[in-house]
Amino acid sequence: MCLNHKEFEQNPSHFEESEEVVAQTDLSWESHRSLIQGMRFFDPHIHMVSRTTDDYEAMRDAGIVALIEPAFWVGQPRTGLSTFKDYFSSLVGWERFRSSQFGIKHYCTIGLNSREANNEPLAEQVMEILPLYLYKEGVVGVGEIGFDDQTAAEEKYYRMQLEMAKKAKLPVQIHTPHRDKKRGTERSMAIALEHGIDPSWVIVDHNNEETVKSVLDQGFWAAFTIYPFTKMSNERMVKIVEQYGPERIMVNSAADWGISDPLAIPKTAVLMKLNGISDETIRLVTYQNAIDAFAKSGQIDVSDFENGLTIDQSQKFNGNTILRGGQEPDAKKTNTLIIK
Ligand SMILES: [Zn+2]
Repeated sequence: MCLNHKEFEQNPSHFEESEEVVAQTDLSWESHRSLIQGMRFFDPHIHMVSRTTDDYEAMRDAGIVALIEPAFWVGQPRTGLSTFKDYFSSLVGWERFRSSQFGIKHYCTIGLNSREANNEPLAEQVMEILPLYLYKEGVVGVGEIGFDDQTAAEEKYYRMQLEMAKKAKLPVQIHTPHRDKKRGTERSMAIALEHGIDPSWVIVDHNNEETVKSVLDQGFWAAFTIYPFTKMSNERMVKIVEQYGPERIMVNSAADWGISDPLAIPKTAVLMKLNGISDETIRLVTYQNAIDAFAKSGQIDVSDFENGLTIDQSQKFNGNTILRGGQEPDAKKTNTLIIK
């Protein structure tokens, strides 16, 4: 694996170092999508504030019925507490509304990301406001938290947030570092156990072949992010499911403002189908396991989304709507092309 810092600067999505590009099988999505017709998907890690209405429509059309948006960094360092407040408010407010307008149930996790834990004066202030958001409706966990550079400050605020999760009786969503991942993952799990947190309440994210066995052996949930053009491709995901089975494994897109794919889950499901993986295994790793893990929050009622959401685009949020002047509410996309 080679580190290429120039590319890292250009695309620091999920703190990722540049990795060797792995050629992916041409999924021919349009010609294969009928294989997953009627399947439902739950994306437990996607940053919708960075995505467009086209993404929401494509996700809904591909069978994604619900998602979790973890609090994360926004691509550049925040300079004050107000931007954290506004961001957390959007996760429990406007973005949830926007998602509902496309028929997708929106949940979120709230936390201070590891990278910004290194700005200690600001991190201290964020710790004070987190409880104001952790108890809000639709918040299904503390996340995404953990390590980036594995500094002392990151450890300090990770530990503080583990205690908050215990107090609020919320699952923990752990971001594992892309650099020195194995050590960072082990350290994240050891600290969670040290704080007396039951591993069945902890979702360890961004796993790979190096980390998965230990995560599962210790009783944690193992989440996998499918990144386009990087090492954790969906072919490798298929092999992991073939090797370990579906128990406590879940797939996510972690799509954000960088190069990423909001349809990573349905596309991976297609590839699993093509490789002869059973429908039940696919259902577990692309839908049910994520629900089981995060439902411990008491905030997920599957009847809200299992039969689809009613879409009413005439609704408003604080007087604001997703529609632009002159547009008619239309959930079926027939009005997407506006011709005067
Ligand atoms: Zn993320």
